[in-house]
Order: sequence, then structure tokens, then C-alpha cells
Amino acid sequence: MKLSIVVPCYNEEAVLGRFDGRIRAVLGSLAMEYELCYVDDGSTDGTLPRMRALAQQHRDTTRYVSFSRNFGKEPAILAGLKEATGDAVIIMDADLQHPPELIEKILDLYQLGHDQVIAKRSRDGDRRLRTALTRMYYRAVNSWVDVELADGVGDFRLLSRTAVDALTSLPEYNRFSKGLFSWIGFDTITFDYRNAAREAGETKWRFGSLINYGIDGMLSFNCRPLRLAIYAGLGLASLATLYTFWIIGAALAGGISTPGYVTLVAIIVGLGGLQMVMLGLIGEYIGRIYYESKRRPHFLVKESHGTPAQRIHPSR
Ligand code: UDP
Ligand code: MG
Repeated sequence: MKLSIVVPCYNEEAVLGRFDGRIRAVLGSLAMEYELCYVDDGSTDGTLPRMRALAQQHRDTTRYVSFSRNFGKEPAILAGLKEATGDAVIIMDADLQHPPELIEKILDLYQLGHDQVIAKRSRDGDRRLRTALTRMYYRAVNSWVDVELADGVGDFRLLSRTAVDALTSLPEYNRFSKGLFSWIGFDTITFDYRNAAREAGETKWRFGSLINYGIDGMLSFNCRPLRLAIYAGLGLASLATLYTFWIIGAALAGGISTPGYVTLVAIIVGLGGLQMVMLGLIGEYIGRIYYESKRRPHFLVKESHGTPAQRIHPSR
């Protein structure tokens, strides 16, 4: 059996060497064929030279792909999965937040016949605000989305060859991998581990990007938000009808008076805002159609090592 480790790296100069050392120590003790697939996601620091050096040092067990610019973690993972030739693939962060020592346990579970082995993390290394917000987010999102998304379940997981082939065959441009992993299904098992703090360097997530990621998650998997818009519209129209009857009744009973400036303004502004939200929602879906219809590749490769030639210029 051959094991592939896929590692997306964006400006990970500070930890890459340490990561490589620790993972090789673990892999070396496994008595199993292995390869490391590094993906340099358009880093602007010394990540790529470091990868070159590692590939020089361990020619047969290292591959890398370097993107022409920063495309994001999802495309980086996709590139890694396309690169990997192993019978099973483990996706890991370069910052050692995913302890390499867990690989043995993951492999034990894989050998029991599971296609996806998911390492679910506790949020010890995270800031409290982020933890709380994430909890809320998952509660909200799971009531929306058809596939099950779990808190703490990230990209740290093993995928069997079957699962990898299923994932790489999905052609969509907008990849929300948390959802995709869950969407493909197969025999899945989850176990808990304690998350380590980042060893060096800094997180690539800014608060804004987390919010965008959140919206992506809600919109990527269904059209239910649009249905909510329909219900909201129906509800408001019914309320407006009732209110109209009430005003007419009041006028018939007590004569016509014309106060209500504030009410009018509030209603107009409120409804205007709601309409903009709904329009934005529709726009989001149209934007997604727009991106899908361009059929651009997910990433462009500028340099690679250990890569079969036909894969150098990726196509969908
Ligand atoms: N990463 C990437 N491209 C990006 C952002 C992040 O390949 O645009 C990689 C990063 O190098 C790391 C992993 O994704 O290996 C997780 O990133 P990070 O540790 O910053 O995220 P966090 O652990 O804080 O969620
Ligand atoms: Mg991290």
C-alpha cells in the first residue's frame, strides 16, 4: 500500500522544514511506501525554494506543485488530490496543527475498511470569540444545508482512492470542500483529537474571509435561501393586506385622519432593505452561475516536481 500526504502551503516558510522533519519521522516508522505532495499556493516568502530543497533532498518521496499566484486553500487541496498517486491520501495543514503522530491511528481506522477517516479537533488553540462564532455558524448552517457539516471537522482526514477519485471528478468551480467531503458520502468514521497551536507563522484567515467563507457554505449547497425569500415575501404581503383592511375599517368607523408619517417611512425603508437583501441573494446565485459558465481552471501551475507531464497544465 502507498500513502500520499497532501499539504497546502501558503507562506509557510517558517514551519515547512519542521513539518517535513516530523512527518518523515512518523512515515519512516510505518514500513509503508509513501509520498509527500506539497502544494505551494502562490507563496510570497521562501516557501517554494524550501520545497525545491526538500525535493532535492528526498527525490523519490516528494512532489510539489507551485501555483502562479494565490488561488486559495480549496484549489490547493484539489491540486494535491490530483497529484497524489497513493491508495490512500491524508490532507494536512503545514503548520503542525494536525499532529503527524495521529497518522498511525488514522491508518488503523482506514484498514478497518473506511473510505473517509476524519480527525475532528477540539478548539483549544483558537481564540474564544472565534470558537463561539463558529459554534453559532454551524448551528445556523446545518438547519440550511442538505449535507451535514460538523464543527471542528476540517480538512484533516484520510480519503481512500475511491473517495479521492470521486472528489476530483466533481467539476464545479466554486469548491466548498467541507460540503463536498460530506456530499460524496462513502463509509465515514470520525474520531476526536486535541488541536495543537500553530507552530510558527500566522493564520491566513482574517475575520472578513471567515464571514465570506460562511456565506459560501450556506449558498454552495442548495437554493433554500431563495425559498426563504419567497416565504418572507408571502408573509409580508399577507401582513400588508391585513393592515390595509384594518386602516379601511378604522377610517369607516372613525373618519379619515392622516397621521402615520413615521410608520410610512419605517415600512418603506424596511421593505427596501429587505428587497435589497433578496436581490443580493439572487445576485449571489447568478454570480455563481457566471463563474461556473466561464469554465476556468481551478489553478495554474508555474512549476512542479515529480509530476507526470500531462498534469502540468491542469484542465478540468
Ligand atoms: N493555506 C493555503 N492557501 C491559502 C490559505 C491557507 O494553502 O490561501 C494553507 C496554509 O498554508 C495551511 C492551511 O492552509 O497549511 C491552513 O491555514 P491556516 O493555518 O492559516 O488556517 P487555520 O489553521 O488558522 O484555520
Ligand atoms: Mg492553522
